[in-house]
Amino acid sequence: MKKSETLLKKLSYERKNFWQKSSKKERERAFEFAEGYKSFLDQAKTERETVSFFNDFLQSNNFQIMGSGNSSKHLYKVARDKNVAIAVIGEKPISEGVNLIVSHIDAPRVDLKQNPLEEDATTGLGIMKTHYYGGIKKYQWMSTPLALHGVIIKKSGELIRISIGEDKDDPVFIMPDLLPHLSQKEQYSKKIGEAIVAEHMKVIFNSIPYLSDEEEEVKNAVKLNALVLMNEKYGIVEEDLLSAELELVPAGKARDAGIDKSMVLGYGQDDRICAYTSVMAMIEAAKKDLDRTAIVFLADKEEIGSESNTGAKSIFIIDFIADLLKSNGEKNDSENLRKTLLKTQILSADVNAGINPNYPGVHEKDNAVHIGYGVSITKYTGSRGKSSSNDANAEFNAKIIRIFNEDKINWQIGTLGKVDEGGGGTIAKFMAEYGAEVIDCGPGLLGMHSLYELCNKADLYSTFKAYRTFFQKT
Ligand code: MN
Ligand code: MN
Repeated sequence: MKKSETLLKKLSYERKNFWQKSSKKERERAFEFAEGYKSFLDQAKTERETVSFFNDFLQSNNFQIMGSGNSSKHLYKVARDKNVAIAVIGEKPISEGVNLIVSHIDAPRVDLKQNPLEEDATTGLGIMKTHYYGGIKKYQWMSTPLALHGVIIKKSGELIRISIGEDKDDPVFIMPDLLPHLSQKEQYSKKIGEAIVAEHMKVIFNSIPYLSDEEEEVKNAVKLNALVLMNEKYGIVEEDLLSAELELVPAGKARDAGIDKSMVLGYGQDDRICAYTSVMAMIEAAKKDLDRTAIVFLADKEEIGSESNTGAKSIFIIDFIADLLKSNGEKNDSENLRKTLLKTQILSADVNAGINPNYPGVHEKDNAVHIGYGVSITKYTGSRGKSSSNDANAEFNAKIIRIFNEDKINWQIGTLGKVDEGGGGTIAKFMAEYGAEVIDCGPGLLGMHSLYELCNKADLYSTFKAYRTFFQKT
């Protein structure tokens, strides 16, 4: 090798491909890890189902519910079926700060409207009206099989869990797109973002009218039949739908992708990939005694700005840390809580956009995430001049890189797109309001926010390893 080449190798930064760099054993582990992940994606398609999955998982791993009056060092708390906070108490006092990984468990989707059911005047079909949630490209949701998930609270207060469209014998639902033959005025002449009108996104719900031997003419017979069927199956009446949370998501399971099966295709990986990897990392890390207390926080409502009492802006996580202080025999007054937060270190665990070979032009390749090159460390997000961004401090950023290097984690840096190309944000800036050190860290995806997002098993596994290192080493 020439001297200049040796120097270049020694002095310059180059991201490394996981598959090239890793041992056979590590490559096998990446594949194995993805099996559990796919099964998780199939069971956890909504925020509530994700909470339910982890509740069962934590129970079977001997975690105790916070406040249940025991002295366990493995604690968790569920809030409103949509948030989970999980802790493993470390050796040091909690007031010396905790290591927290926060991700979100909501994903873009299409909700039913509160008063959804209608008998269409023109076609006589039973339809359900919808209102989308989060940043979707509406055209992707047309003419694709959808499953209906959610909860209905009956007048008695009884909660009914709904999941229709995932079992092979279940029916699915569809919002039929317009045929190309007649799309000239309705769609082709419009901008892509305007071609699908939200109010036209109606699901075909049923088509058979209520049939009666005694009555010749039944009014609204198709709608009536839909109500009768739902009443028979769930014991509900139409008014029960008015308060329900019913979510349409792509029907079907996560799949391997690529001839080498190196990738996973599935719905809702933003951000359940970080939820899954952070919980698994915590379980692994806790097999050894931890120096600092580790916390995983799974939040809802990130896709609509972390709003509401189940979003990351709520006091839930702060209340959880205050309770932890108390259960650990430490003061949990306002001052001690503030000091704890100021000494806390947070990974805002969210996905980033990998460079898409179909649209390389929106990225600046040296500062973008490359699929298969490991977990991404994202110093800042935001848009325009880093607006609405948490801009992590160089000291904390360097510390994260240092510990990842020590444990030979495949990592890379990644920012979201070219400057002024667009942009976006994460939970990081809300967490930073507590005064803690915060940095974004997670895998890149292709086709983020589409029906089927693509991740690389290398990045999935590297993210798990990175989070484990964060809990063990910081
Ligand atoms: Mn996200
Ligand atoms: Mn998102």
